[in-house]
Amino acid sequence: MIKVINPATEAVVGEVPLGSAADIDLAVVAASEAFPSWSVTSPQVRASYLRQIHQELVSRAPEIAELITAELGMPIKLSQRIQAGLPVAVLDSYIQLLESYEFSERIGKSTIHKEPVGVVAAITPWNFPLHQLMIKVAAALAAGCTIVVKPSELAPLNAFVLAEIVESCGFPPGVFNLVSGYGAEVGEALARHPRVDMISFTGSTRAGKRVSVLGAETVKRVALELGGKSAALILDDADLEIAVKATVSNCFLNSGQVCSALTRMLIPESLYQEAADLAVTVAKGFLPGSPLDVQAKLGPLISAEQRQRVCRYIQSGIDEGAELLLGGAEAPESLPHGYYVQPTVFGRVTSQMRIAREEIFGPVLSLLPYRDEDDGIRIANDSHYGLAGSVWSANLDRAERVARKLRTGQVDINGGRFNLLAPFGGYRQSGNGRELGRYGLEEFLEIKSLQF
Ligand code: NAD
Repeated sequence: MIKVINPATEAVVGEVPLGSAADIDLAVVAASEAFPSWSVTSPQVRASYLRQIHQELVSRAPEIAELITAELGMPIKLSQRIQAGLPVAVLDSYIQLLESYEFSERIGKSTIHKEPVGVVAAITPWNFPLHQLMIKVAAALAAGCTIVVKPSELAPLNAFVLAEIVESCGFPPGVFNLVSGYGAEVGEALARHPRVDMISFTGSTRAGKRVSVLGAETVKRVALELGGKSAALILDDADLEIAVKATVSNCFLNSGQVCSALTRMLIPESLYQEAADLAVTVAKGFLPGSPLDVQAKLGPLISAEQRQRVCRYIQSGIDEGAELLLGGAEAPESLPHGYYVQPTVFGRVTSQMRIAREEIFGPVLSLLPYRDEDDGIRIANDSHYGLAGSVWSANLDRAERVARKLRTGQVDINGGRFNLLAPFGGYRQSGNGRELGRYGLEEFLEIKSLQF
């Protein structure tokens, strides 16, 4: 068994089976045998199954929020809205999409049919565990695929609630399968299994490269949602206070454990000091504390190992000459238990420093001054990653022109809100997939042309 630890108390909150390659084989064979009949069900039938999951998720939302807070450490209020609320909204969007999506179209004398890709392997991380699972499960099942899911070993309990729900909804056997376990064993067994047609992977760039190599052996479709080092590009005509406040809040959400976190704040040199003072003031409001304490705004990190990693990055920032404006590598006072890190802000960071180049996945913000608009764009794009970004300007035309120059999959303009129907995914080493909405459904579809 794998023990699941509450990162706020360091106590065991549950355990899940330690899966093996043999379990993966059973699950993939079951998914493969269920595929011929599930893949030809009508969109209406698939929507009615998904609607049943939706009802159960809604009625179990309070329990799901508490469970994810216990295994992940996100403050409970946020967990209710994000960890329990987002999967419901994602599922609802796919139920709606099934009502209108055209699975066939005519092009001249051809009919084009969009058909399910087959057996999908879904491998997911721990930071928004049920959301990341649901994005894949909802889209794959809506498309007519069958699926084997492998949740993160660090926060797997919520996936078992989903499996219970799926079972209670009377899905045909083999349509949905869950195997828990470690990436190196069950993750790799799944990625290399010859009867898996597609790997939908969300996680680190390191593991994404590995599953791509394994999947290449049988030319599987591989959709990757990987890491990021996203920039908030604050232009000289922006409302500085709003832009800084929003960027700090974005960077510290989920204790900085967000793939699209805006971890680099790019500020014109002329506004640098004002922005740095503002950033420190806002960051001081992110009080670390128990996720069950409603005053606390910053929960612990997921594990002792992750805390160590983040603290090493903080030390590297100090060693490489960045100015430590707030926080540091020491544990916050008065929190002897739990994997807490202080909200940390570095000033005068340069693109050469590790804290500006590598994904930290903790509450660490880097402030980088720039000379002019072109220099700001150049620094924003000076990254192996390309997941997200934001642009702030009083002039929307200018903001859009600059946003189009950023080599990332999404850019929020003046704090534009997350849109569940818009495609989400990365450029460069942030991946190659697009999830959510119509583009997310199409990832799980093959395209067939019939000529008449
Ligand atoms: P991770 O790569 O360590 O693990 C992700 C999943 O992959 C887990 O289920 C793990 O068991 C599995 N895995 C690990 N090694 C594997 C291997 N060799 N073969 C097959 N499977 C393997 O990542 P994590 O620490 O769980 O999550 C954090 C990372 O995920 C960050 O880099 C973050 O940016 C990224 N992420 C990306 C997105 C996105 O949509 N782009 C969303 C959330 C998280």
